[in-house]
Amino acid sequence: MNNTAPKLTNEQYEKNFADIHPAFTQNQAVTEANRCLYCFDSPCMKACPTHIDISTFIKKIATGNVKGSAKTILASNWIALTCAKACPVDVLCEGACVYNDRGEEPIKIGRLQRYAIDWYFEHGMPALFTPAPKNGKSVGVIGAGPSGLACAAELALLGYDVTIYEGKDVAGGLDTWGIAPYKMTYKDSLNEVKLVQSFGVTIKTGMWIGKNLTIAELEKKHDAIFIGVGLGKSPSLKIPGEDLKGVVDALDFIASVTPRKWSTVDVGHRVAVIGAGNTAIDAATEAKRLGAEQVTIVYRRGENDMSAYDFEYELAKNDGILFHFHTAPQRIIGNGTVEALECVKMRLRNPVAKGKQSLEPVPKSEFQIPVDMIIKAIGQDANENFLEQIGGMEFVDGNVAVNTETMRTANPKYFAGGDCINGGKEVVNAAADGKKAAHGIDTFIFNKR
Ligand SMILES: Cc1cc2nc3c(=O)[nH]c(=O)nc-3n(C[C@H](O)[C@H](O)[C@H](O)COP(=O)(O)OP(=O)(O)OC[C@H]3O[C@@H](n4cnc5c(N)ncnc54)[C@H](O)[C@@H]3O)c2cc1C
Repeated sequence: MNNTAPKLTNEQYEKNFADIHPAFTQNQAVTEANRCLYCFDSPCMKACPTHIDISTFIKKIATGNVKGSAKTILASNWIALTCAKACPVDVLCEGACVYNDRGEEPIKIGRLQRYAIDWYFEHGMPALFTPAPKNGKSVGVIGAGPSGLACAAELALLGYDVTIYEGKDVAGGLDTWGIAPYKMTYKDSLNEVKLVQSFGVTIKTGMWIGKNLTIAELEKKHDAIFIGVGLGKSPSLKIPGEDLKGVVDALDFIASVTPRKWSTVDVGHRVAVIGAGNTAIDAATEAKRLGAEQVTIVYRRGENDMSAYDFEYELAKNDGILFHFHTAPQRIIGNGTVEALECVKMRLRNPVAKGKQSLEPVPKSEFQIPVDMIIKAIGQDANENFLEQIGGMEFVDGNVAVNTETMRTANPKYFAGGDCINGGKEVVNAAADGKKAAHGIDTFIFNKR
């Protein structure tokens, strides 16, 4: 990079990346728990993809039974700490809370869940669940992200021998490498990995299936296989200059921030982020909090078309991120290293037509944004190269097709869940899929249906 932002002190970094939803004290938790109306039909529970019995865990906090509360939560969701800290609760459980209908603040379900699960990890993960006796069957799980971990935990408790194969050196998937460090820490994710290991699950890291172990070798070892490989890299921008130094993939940039080794992370003085989804917002706010003076999001459509959640957009605006809407990148300019992003204004090709319209460049509207770093955040491609190595699979829009009751793929030995089947949703969806797939596998292996 031509111009990196000056380094901050460790204290400044820690302040900038401090928890955006700090932990409740005991008094705060009990007071908030006592606000819960314990609705007979629990709309919050229905809104949660893992269907945690929310009113019961909250009731247990209100009566001082925090261990019991943690047990209620974990019985439904093995990735409960990440979900407590990083779930988009506004559009899930808290969004469904009946207090919203009265124009009052919903119950802070995420923070209460965090209170119980923080307690559980701070108290050394007391044993709450006993694995069933070994049933002599073995399952291989590809990927140690939330879907793979959830599937493995559930299977281990059902009595299976479970091995997770993870290509990276550290397990946890995007919970470890992707989620913004002001929402949750790297250590939180590793605690969840330890919980899954405590049920007897073996995790082999540095093991890329298809590279370090072939599909045929994997199939020989196991009675069934769960695919939890998530998605792949960001697609190419397909514009000149993309190979210049200073152009980075959002996921690589974010992964360099999550371990909180501040001295090792460089950020440009002026940064442009291309894209307007949640990953783009995370990359932009992280760049700003690392000390970039100016961070601009460039998006070819309008504000209302952004796929980022409203609260993520608000966070970015509060961090001082600039937005160029109806703007498409055309060319990256630089001599070996990025110096500017040339953009063009965009407009609807047919402004009166309904639905998502195609766009066209506005003639003679080109302009340049001087930058030292460009972060590409235009989504992730499917892990096609890998998935195609497994025979007999079917795909819908590039995602692995599954039976949504059992999570079984068209190849009967394989089950799948998480981002590789939904194209990229939330951790809670991956956690729910993994657990459901474990029961699908159990039914398949013991021919229960
Ligand atoms: C930048 C970013 C921020 C996000 N922030 C949030 C958030 O705040 N809240 C939220 O709820 N969701 C968030 N998400 C979404 C969430 O992280 C994902 O939905 C979730 O992690 C998907 O879980 P998964 O198990 O399907 O895949 P992943 O978490 O991607 O895990 C897949 C794992 O499989 C491994 N793998 C892949 N191929 C192989 C192979 N061939 N052999 C062995 N291992 C392999 C990978 O290394 C990886 O560890 C975010 C996503 C991104 C990209």
